[in-house]
Amino acid sequence: MEKITIVNMARLIPSDFEAYEYMETLRWPDGEVVCPHCGVLSAAHYYLTPADGISRVTTRGSHSQRRVWKCKDCRKQFSVTTGTVFHGSKVSLQIWLFVFFEMCANKNGIAAREIARKYGVAPKTAWFMTQRIREAMANDDSGKLSGNIVMDETYIGGKPANWHANDPRKSKTGNNTARKMAAVALISEETGEIRTKVVTNVTGTVIQNMVRDNVTTSETVLHSDSAPLYRTVAKELKGHHVVNHNAGEYVNELSHGTNKAENFFSQLKRSIDGTHHCISPQHLQRYLTEFAFRHSTHDLSDTQRMVRLMGQVHGIRLTYKGARAI
Ligand SMILES: [Zn+2]
Repeated sequence: MEKITIVNMARLIPSDFEAYEYMETLRWPDGEVVCPHCGVLSAAHYYLTPADGISRVTTRGSHSQRRVWKCKDCRKQFSVTTGTVFHGSKVSLQIWLFVFFEMCANKNGIAAREIARKYGVAPKTAWFMTQRIREAMANDDSGKLSGNIVMDETYIGGKPANWHANDPRKSKTGNNTARKMAAVALISEETGEIRTKVVTNVTGTVIQNMVRDNVTTSETVLHSDSAPLYRTVAKELKGHHVVNHNAGEYVNELSHGTNKAENFFSQLKRSIDGTHHCISPQHLQRYLTEFAFRHSTHDLSDTQRMVRLMGQVHGIRLTYKGARAI
């Protein structure tokens, strides 16, 4: 596959027809088409060629360049976007693919207002697009981590002066620092794969559940700071190595310390301050997931990352209302 860049995409995708074709090469790279209705994978599904070769007239009378297939087994029609995060959107697939690429390739992601300005979509639409793409980033079934795992927690706040008047973090007593959001991260030292979770408060139970949910405990050696929070879960693990930050210790004979997690959090915070500005608590998990996705796939090229994410777009339907509520 040709290396994906913005320049290549502009050349390869001059209209929606090519956008559908292009997405087919990303989602079905072996030429085997998957029917989203019955799941049959086959190179023998029928492509329905439109009368003029490019576009068909929809039931509403408008022209659409959506490439339509018919399943050889269940006989239902579908396109490459059926049942994916792109499905049912009024935004052209051409624009979707550009935004998709930018979110895969930019270290800090891309702000919704930047998408609105660059691609001429409404700000609300741009925001919804980013939320749908983050939903695909979360749709990862790569399983539990094991080996040497670094764990750390942090508080993410932004400047209280910038918080919205109705922000739930605003404390009536004026003690804003107590209402910051907390996040926990687990990072594999070997692969850089990462799991994150937003929590209201970091406790031993939160740490324990996070570890149990995300690692194979009998095969995991945990690296953390000396906070007592980690002691309970440590008993279930193969090993636990601690660096004592209070004593100025950041690495020792047994551990590389928690630098990897701290670096992840500091990049995330810089990006929230610089690119995304204030993020409300109910949306923070999605930003964390987005950063975790790019971090976990840091050894892939932008092209490989885009293909990987294209493999995760299926089986997700996120409505605007759903996106607001989460
Ligand atoms: Zn089918």
